[in-house]
Amino acid sequence: MRIEILGVGFDNITVDQAEAEGVRLMDAPGVHYVVTPNPEIVEVCRGDPEAMEAVGGADLVLADGIGIVYGAKILGTPLKGRVPGIVFAQRLMGRMAQSGKTLFLLGAKPGVAERAAERLKGEYPGLRIAGTHDGYFQDDAAVVSAIRSSGADVVFVCLGAPKQEKWMRRNGEASGAHLLVGLGGCLDVFSGQVKRAPAAFQKLGLEWLYRLGTNPSRIGRMMKLPLFLVHAAGERRK
Ligand code: UDP
Repeated sequence: MRIEILGVGFDNITVDQAEAEGVRLMDAPGVHYVVTPNPEIVEVCRGDPEAMEAVGGADLVLADGIGIVYGAKILGTPLKGRVPGIVFAQRLMGRMAQSGKTLFLLGAKPGVAERAAERLKGEYPGLRIAGTHDGYFQDDAAVVSAIRSSGADVVFVCLGAPKQEKWMRRNGEASGAHLLVGLGGCLDVFSGQVKRAPAAFQKLGLEWLYRLGTNPSRIGRMMKLPLFLVHAAGERRK
């Protein structure tokens, strides 16, 4: 069941349910993709029909972040909780390491995906990395063909939003993979370049504050969060 927040439908599921669904999609025939929108992406979608279509067309729409959970509450249709994209990715890698499925890492600055691959192989013994590619390319076709020839089952697409959502919608089928997941800045974290917020921040739902503190240039983007809450409150009044 999806809960609609300002035009974007979110799957009302727990982290465990999301993991089970991700594994099911990985094994199912055909191609599937997962998106992990935060309030900023919802705001972007409101002004970008192509982004809205790409997000709405996903097989799984996960509530990435506390802002979405607040938005749902304001609208009177609460979600079970948040499912951070990074946690979903970690759960999937645990399962892939067991099943032998292969993973392609796409995105971030040159060298980052390779470093992430090395670290992840250490963290998830048995995890098979089919290939990597940076996220600063002009030609989709060459990247699609690299993924296809790697034979990857799963692709983590980390190009930032809404680029990654549009990319998955456009190229998912041709990539030959079964499951693509849009994960924003996750490769920067997996490579060790960027630290995830300490557990206390995560628990309190203040991960955004930590990210802002360590990277103040995000302030412009982050102002979309209060805007999102204002829009949600406006929608409720309607
Ligand atoms: N990125 C990319 N290609 C681009 C633009 C961005 O690969 O054309 C990468 C960027 O290097 C970073 C990620 O996409 O690793 C976006 O990170 P950000 O923290 O902005 O994403 P969020 O999780 O907030 O959506």
